[in-house]
Order: sequence, then structure tokens, then C-alpha cells
Amino acid sequence: MDRMKKKKVIVIGAGFSGISAATALAEKGYDVHVLEKNAEPGGRARVFREGGFVFDMGPSWYWMPDIFETYFGKFGKKPSDYYELKRLDPSYSVILSESEVIDIPADLEGIKTLFESYEEGASSQLDKFLKQAAYKYRVGIQDFVWRPSVKFTEFLSVKLLIDAIRMDVFSSFYKHIRKFFKSSTLLKLMEFPILFLGAISQNTPAMYSLMNFAEITMGTWYPMGGMHQIVNGMVALAEEKHVKFTYNTEVTGFEIVNKHVRAVKTAKGLIEADMVVASADYHWVEKLLGDDFRNYSEEYWDKRVMAPSSLLFYLGISKRLPKLKHHNLFFDRDFSVHSHEIYTDPSWPSDPLFYASAPSVTDPSVAPEGCENVFLLIPVAPDLEDTDVQREKYFHQLMDRLEAYCGENIRDSIVYKRSYAHQDFMSDYHAFKGNAYGLANTLFQTAILKPSLKNKKLDNLYYTGQLTVPGPGVPPSLISGLVVANEVDKSLRK
Ligand SMILES: Cc1cc2nc3c(=O)[nH]c(=O)nc-3n(C[C@H](O)[C@H](O)[C@H](O)COP(=O)(O)OP(=O)(O)OC[C@H]3O[C@@H](n4cnc5c(N)ncnc54)[C@H](O)[C@@H]3O)c2cc1C
Repeated sequence: MDRMKKKKVIVIGAGFSGISAATALAEKGYDVHVLEKNAEPGGRARVFREGGFVFDMGPSWYWMPDIFETYFGKFGKKPSDYYELKRLDPSYSVILSESEVIDIPADLEGIKTLFESYEEGASSQLDKFLKQAAYKYRVGIQDFVWRPSVKFTEFLSVKLLIDAIRMDVFSSFYKHIRKFFKSSTLLKLMEFPILFLGAISQNTPAMYSLMNFAEITMGTWYPMGGMHQIVNGMVALAEEKHVKFTYNTEVTGFEIVNKHVRAVKTAKGLIEADMVVASADYHWVEKLLGDDFRNYSEEYWDKRVMAPSSLLFYLGISKRLPKLKHHNLFFDRDFSVHSHEIYTDPSWPSDPLFYASAPSVTDPSVAPEGCENVFLLIPVAPDLEDTDVQREKYFHQLMDRLEAYCGENIRDSIVYKRSYAHQDFMSDYHAFKGNAYGLANTLFQTAILKPSLKNKKLDNLYYTGQLTVPGPGVPPSLISGLVVANEVDKSLRK
């Protein structure tokens, strides 16, 4: 044990998956050192402050609170030891047109009443749907996502095959949801959570109705202070376990001897390790490894279906915008056109759907008094030419729609504005094709079919994060870190 305790693990990257892996490995007794290229932790969930505004840079939806409980619970802690959660009600607002806005109630009875108002019998259909989805959530979240997916044999069992069939792994969410509802509005509402998986419902396995189950029955939450409070809590917990974090330190290569990583290269010199866990974007790590040691060719990567990138605007507004809720989905345009422009014919969208978040509606600490903190997001195809002119064009498109919806001029009250898109994802995170959310969760990019969390040519390099199992999103990234920590521990104990 003493000898094992001294084994040194380097974790590359301090995003959710890296911090999760580091903490679990420190808990198991290893000497863990996290190297992060940026000046602060959080990765895609970093925060910045400007003129009294506090901007969460990435995630804004806190779903699946049970996974956060499980995460902190593994270390004898609770989320409430580190941050205060508030349940949002309404959970979010869906803007179907300037005159048709649906506020999604937090309670199930309220949702059923809403569904019934759109389609007779829809509330009992929702019950049936949720009953099936509950099973998928139970098996998916308690079993499937915890499998490291490094060997086919992990999935060779009759029970698992039966589970997979009952889970609807092999049919699409698109078909599945149409067995329950006909109303185009209800279909839109039910297909929204699937967008989090980075693919359209036609290409997403029906088992992901577990997302609807989580959203409808467990609610939409917000950590007071902002989403980065989760990161702060996780870093505090990691430091309690003696994980060492070094920021502004980019890993630029590997020293490899006899198919073994002896050290990682940084501008400050070589840092030796017994084991390396790379939570930085998988494709970038492969590039650093070079042709001899990478798991997958460039051709392989080019064929992956990436989840969308995003064009983002962080805005400080010098007045309140009473029409906005915390989460506002502008679904007032044709999604089939927008999704075609993301997935089928990648191009800048002609007339996009977008999302507006105003956390200052819930949390006065993220904006100066009397001001609104607004975050706008347009999902866009990865790998597009990203220019200031293009960003500005969309900024004005969104402003036109936001002003029309809010019924007031907003542009003249903007006291802070920052845009963020492909170029920034690449320079800040080395994101492949400027992706925001990693790989899409399509059937052919699920479990064993995802990029492996083990390097097959080196005996001490593992990967974690949104480009490997189980997939994109904050809860999956936390799970990914815990899963890789178990694999690393098994390997180091051999
Ligand atoms: C705009 C946006 C909105 C999102 N919204 C949501 C949401 O509402 N809910 C949700 O659940 N999920 C959301 N997500 C997804 C979620 O944020 C990600 O899936 C998750 O944060 C990924 O974590 P990660 O650890 O895999 O990667 P990252 O967060 O990217 O962490 C990787 C880290 O590695 C570092 N790194 C890279 N290269 C090197 C190197 N060479 N040396 C050292 N360090 C390096 C990076 O700087 C980074 O800190 C959103 C993502 C984005 C971008």
C-alpha cells in the first residue's frame, strides 16, 4: 500500500472529468497532479467576471441532481456541503411564437395539465411514457454508463441483451416519441432534452428518453452563485484529498520509452509520472502522441459525428428584462431547417433557434443591482469559418428577436458584450473542429463504439471526458472521471 501510495498520476486538464478522475485517484491513495493549460479550473464550465457581472461560460442547465449526489457521496460528502441548490419553477420557458409561450411547470401534475391542454389523453400517455423511461433511467444510469466499455465481453450477457432491447437501444427516439404523442407542440417539447445529446432525435437511440425522465421528474436546478460553484466545490474536495493543481501549464507532448509514458512535456520541463489520464480533448491528445501511439487515425476522427459547436454571447444589460425567465428556448423557427444546417449540410444557419439564459432572474449575485446577466447560445455546425463579421450578423438577428419578444430596446442598454465561438473553443481547449460538446450520442457512437478510454499502444495512458464514455454533459463527465479512475487503479495494482 505504501509503495502504491507513492505512485504518481498526472491528470491533463481541470474540467469536470479531470477533477473527478483526480479526486477519485487521490481517494484511492495516489499522488495526483493536475496540469491545466488555462489560468483556472472548470474547462468548458469556467467563469469570468466583468463590471460586476459573473458569467458562467458554458453549462447552465443543472439536471440529474442524483448524479451530483452520487459524485459527492462517493467521498462522504453532499453537494450542499459546497453549494446551495435552488429548484427552478417554471423549469424553463419555450417561446413558440411571440404570442405563444409555454412555461414548463416544475411539478408533474402541472406538466400533465399542460399536456392535456394540447392533446386529449396526453396526460395518461405521459404516465405510460415515463413508466418506460423510468426503467431506462434505472438501467442506463445505474449500469450502462458505469461500464468502461473497453472490451466487448463487458456487454456479452443475456440479461444485458434483454436490458438493451427493453431499453430501446436499437430504435430511434423520433419513432419512439411518436408512439405516445401526436401534437407537434408536445413532440417539440419532448424532443428538446435530446438536443443535449448532440444529435437529432432520428439518430438518437430511444433509450435516451431517460433524459425526459430526469428532466420531468427530477427537475431543473441552479447552484446559487452560478454553475461554476460546482467546479469550486469539486476543486475544494479534490484539495481536501491533496490533489495538486498547477494552472497555466499546457502539456505539449509525451516522453515515451518502451511503449510507456515516462513523462509529460510542458514549457517548464518534463514532469514524470507512473500513469497519465488525459481529460483534454481526445483528438488533441492523439495529435500530441503522433502516428505511432495514437488510437485512431485522422480519417477516423473526420468520420465521427460531432455534437454541435456554439456561437455564444455574454451580455451585461443595465436594466432588468421582465419578460425573460431563467431559461428561455426560442423555438419560434423551423428546427428541421436549422438541424439540416448543423448535421446534413454544415453551414451557418439561415434562421436559427436559440437559447437565452438570464441567471440574474434567480440569483442577484451574478449582476449589479437593477441589471440583467444574459447568455445567448446558437447551436451551430462544428468546423465552420468563424469571423467577427459573421458573429456580428447573428448578434443583430438575435437582438431583433429578443427585443421583439421583450417588447423593448435592449441594444442601447448593453454595458458589456463578449462573443465566443469555434476559434475560442480551439484556442482555449484545443477543441477538435471547434466543438463545444464533444461527440454526438448516436447509436454508432455509444458505449464500446465510442473512442476508448484506454490507449491501446501505451500501457499507462488513459482518456476521460466528453469525447469518450459515457458522453457529453456535466453528469456524464463526472461519471467518466470516476470510471477511468477505477480502470487506472486496476492497472496500477497489477
Ligand atoms: C456552451 C456550452 C454549454 C453547455 N451546456 C451544458 C449544460 O447546460 N448542461 C450540461 O450538463 N452540460 C453542458 N455542456 C457540456 C459540458 O459543459 C461538457 O460536457 C463538460 O464540461 C466537459 O467536461 P470535460 O472535462 O470533458 O472537458 P473540458 O471542460 O473541456 O476540460 C478539459 C480541460 O483540459 C484542458 N486542456 C486542454 N488541452 C490541454 C493541454 N494540452 N494541457 C493541459 N490542459 C489542457 C482544457 O483547458 C480544459 O480545462 C455545455 C458545454 C458548452 C461548451
